[in-house]
Amino acid sequence: MVKVNSNYLKLKAGYLFPEIARRVKVFTDKNPAAELIRLGIGDVTEPLPKACRDAMKLAIDEMGTPDGFHGYGPEQGYLWLRQAIAKNDFQLRGCDIKAEEIFVSDGSKCDSSNILDILGEDNRIAVTDPVYPVYVDSNVMVGRTGKSYENGRYSGLEYLPITADNSFEPEIPGNPLDVIYLCSPNNPTGAVCSRLNLKAWVDYALKNDALILFDAAYESFIRDPQLPHSIYEIEGAKECAIEFRSFSKKAGFTGTRCAFTVVPRELKGHASNGQKIDLWDLWNRRQSTKFNGVSYIVQRGAEAVYSDAGKDQVNSLVSFYMENADLIRKELAEAGFQVYGGQHAPYVWINVPESMNSWDFFDYLLDKAHVVGTPGSGFGSSGEGYFRLSAFNSRNNVKNAMQRIAQL
Ligand SMILES: *Cc1c(COP(=O)(O)O)cnc(C)c1O
Repeated sequence: MVKVNSNYLKLKAGYLFPEIARRVKVFTDKNPAAELIRLGIGDVTEPLPKACRDAMKLAIDEMGTPDGFHGYGPEQGYLWLRQAIAKNDFQLRGCDIKAEEIFVSDGSKCDSSNILDILGEDNRIAVTDPVYPVYVDSNVMVGRTGKSYENGRYSGLEYLPITADNSFEPEIPGNPLDVIYLCSPNNPTGAVCSRLNLKAWVDYALKNDALILFDAAYESFIRDPQLPHSIYEIEGAKECAIEFRSFSKKAGFTGTRCAFTVVPRELKGHASNGQKIDLWDLWNRRQSTKFNGVSYIVQRGAEAVYSDAGKDQVNSLVSFYMENADLIRKELAEAGFQVYGGQHAPYVWINVPESMNSWDFFDYLLDKAHVVGTPGSGFGSSGEGYFRLSAFNSRNNVKNAMQRIAQL
């Protein structure tokens, strides 16, 4: 008799995006002529930068020659890409990260879930609320939580509320935790951790021998030069943090797939007998066993992000989305909404009108403006009363959507 992983049965049935799809389908079946504008799911819309496409075309031609053919590459990624990443994303910002500490992968979503493979069962784990649902569900799947409560939270996880009351900055807990997920710039709130807040987290982690899992998938959207792009800009972070980065949002790679994870050599965990263990060794072992690397062609495309032309094109791409975010912020503020985020992140987070909850507002916006957004409560119980709008769309669609909302 085949037994299933019963942890999967603890997952909440109405996962956010399927539920959105279901409601949208009910609406479009009834209103086939309505022109929907989707400012919901966080996928990019602009084409892949030319520098990346050119590099991938060259790589394809190389693969057609006996000398240029590449079979299995290194599981950690090609050294030339790891060097370009270490130099441009870290060393040029004053972070002492070496190429060997970069692990290239096919996505941050996978890495931020797979990292649980190398962590013990009995860690006290904290996530923010609201949160990127992947961190929570991946913990449920491997059995690190109990059942879910009525409000959607799971027993066995610690939740750190991020709301307007604390300016969307997770507060340092009074109790010792072992693993803390932080996402900055934040999905869904669009907020960024200040240097001060990050330093407080690093100090907390060092004091408690804790590990910070820092998701910086949206770092390229930061516009204020004072704000930290990497947790390694904070002293001591190499002893307490793993950082996830992705080419998905930065360079339009959501469908092309390339990302990386930084595991510093200094980072240690503890075995059950108290012995200190290098996390780098465990992650390297995990990747070498369960992963066979990202395609040569895609890694050449990612490398081109760091060429002069690539940097220019990525900058324009990011600026384009951020102009959308500016437009959304301005129009919604004028329409009387309280707006947050959207200044260093492609997400604008708004308060829904007081008479509604997040899902009521979702239905209202769909029904009256034919605009699809994401209800804040779908990201956690502290997201109730909020709503996420994404800047990933054409300028025209963003303008039209804002016009429709203004006319409500
Ligand atoms: C989009 C996103 C990622 C990137 O995931 P990929 O698998 O690299 O496409 C990572 N973290 C967050 C919070 C995201 O929103």
